[in-house]
Amino acid sequence: MNVILMGPPGCGKGTQAQRLQDRYGMIQLSTGDMLRAAVAAGTEIGQKAKAIMDRGDLVPDEIVVGIIVDRIQEPDVQKNGFILDGFPRTVAQAEKLDEVLDAKDIEIDHIIELTVDEAALFARIENRAKESGGDVRADDNAETLKKRITVYREQTAPILPYYEKAGRLEKVDGMASIEDVTQQLEDILDPRAETARRA
Ligand code: AMP
Repeated sequence: MNVILMGPPGCGKGTQAQRLQDRYGMIQLSTGDMLRAAVAAGTEIGQKAKAIMDRGDLVPDEIVVGIIVDRIQEPDVQKNGFILDGFPRTVAQAEKLDEVLDAKDIEIDHIIELTVDEAALFARIENRAKESGGDVRADDNAETLKKRITVYREQTAPILPYYEKAGRLEKVDGMASIEDVTQQLEDILDPRAETARRA
C-alpha cells in the first residue's frame, strides 16, 4: 500500500508515519530525514541543503525530487509500499511525482491530510523543542517555525486543491490525541478493521 501524508510542520506526520510503518510495514520516506542525513554526512546535497533548511525555506525541487524518485524505485520500497512524509511540498513536486508514478505504474492508495489549528501548532513545536532536551532540531525554534508555516501556506497548501479536485484527498483531525489520530488513519487504511471494531 502506498500513502501520502500531508499537513503543516508540527502536525504529527512524522510520528504517525512511523506508527503506520510499525503497524503495516510500508516504509516511511521522510524527505526531511533524508536531507538531515545528507547534511550529517556532509554530502554535496547536504552542503547545499543545510543553510536553506536552517532558515526554514524549501530545498529546490530538483534536489528533493531526485532523492525521493530514486528511493521509491528501490526493491524494499517496491515490495513493502511507502508512506511519503514531507513530500510533495510544492505543486511542481506533486506533478513530477504523478508523472514518475504513472510511468512506473505505481498507484497511490491514499492521500491523507492531517488538519490542524495553526495556533496550537506553535505550542506543539515549542513542546517538541523542550522535550527533546539538548537534541533540538536547528529548525525547531519559534522564528523558523513561523517561516516554515508561512512557506507551508504559500507553497505547500496549494497542493491540497490539486488532490481534492481529483477526488483523492482524505482528511483526518490532526488535533486529536496521537492515539486517536492513529486510529483514524487505521480506519482509512484498513476499513475491515474499522467494521470489526464498530461491530
Ligand atoms: P521536515 O522534517 O519534513 O519538517 O523537513 C525539514 C526541512 O527539510 C524543511 O523545512 C525543508 O527545508 C526541507 N525539506 C523537507 N522535505 C522537503 C521537500 N519535499 N521539498 C523541499 N524541501 C524539503
